[in-house]
Amino acid sequence: MSRIVYVNGEYVPEEEAKISVFDRGFLFADGVYEVTSVLEGRLVDFAGHITRLRRSLSELEMASPCTDEALEAIHRELIARNNLTEGVIYLQVTRGAADRDFAYPAEGTQPSLVLFTQDKTLIDTKAARDGIKVASVPDIRWGRRDIKTVQLLAPSMCKMAAKAQGADDAWMVEDGFVTEGTSNNAYIVTGDGTLVTRNLSNAILHGITRAAVLRMAREAQIKVEERPFTIDEAKAAREAFVTAASSFVNPVVEIDGVSLGDGTPGPIARRLREIYIEESLKTAT
Ligand code: PLP
Repeated sequence: MSRIVYVNGEYVPEEEAKISVFDRGFLFADGVYEVTSVLEGRLVDFAGHITRLRRSLSELEMASPCTDEALEAIHRELIARNNLTEGVIYLQVTRGAADRDFAYPAEGTQPSLVLFTQDKTLIDTKAARDGIKVASVPDIRWGRRDIKTVQLLAPSMCKMAAKAQGADDAWMVEDGFVTEGTSNNAYIVTGDGTLVTRNLSNAILHGITRAAVLRMAREAQIKVEERPFTIDEAKAAREAFVTAASSFVNPVVEIDGVSLGDGTPGPIARRLREIYIEESLKTAT
């Protein structure tokens, strides 16, 4: 059965969804996005995603397509129309369609708004059970990774480079330090049990799951340090993991072919995943 997707004010079967060839998202990757997870048909941390969307739009001086309330209503309508119980909702806003020009189009150009659902298992996954392998690759992305833009070719290339080495994902490295995974934030647990993850800056995306997991770690009396770490420090770590809205907390069991600990998901990653899912099931709206 085909999905019902939302495109610029209309709910249509996916085969009928259309966007102009002049859309700046298509021509310049001039667009931003959000991915919100859905559990039991409810939205996880919707407020966090909307706040980040607003920030991305404002950093790019991009007009908003509608109010927060309207965006929420579209999310709920898509959940209902597609009978989504577990999965994600993808939202994309672009600067809209205009004749091709590097300068932004005149004010008043209508932004494009597209949303669609992806039905997928989030809780009971192989990655959560067995952990994932990562390979380090140079971070070839631009300098404003704090803005969640749709220009995802660089992380896509990084992921393919990691896969070519037999890994599941890449940990991208810049100036000797790990920035993040291709679509997740990266963490290690040092020998004394300290959780280390890169501090917020323009070098990484400010993960909504990262904020929640760090809060939960602190509440669970886990010592947290927000600072850059090297790939060598990561390889010597007791355990490692990644976080993202679409995968929650996933243990990392191997970095560049080096097994961490006993090569199985570490206790802190497993515990934080459990807490995150439990809390999300309680607070999803
Ligand atoms: N870092 C990058 C580069 C990402 O693309 C993502 C998610 O897409 C994340 C981190 C995790 O962010 P969030 O927890 O908000 O999904």
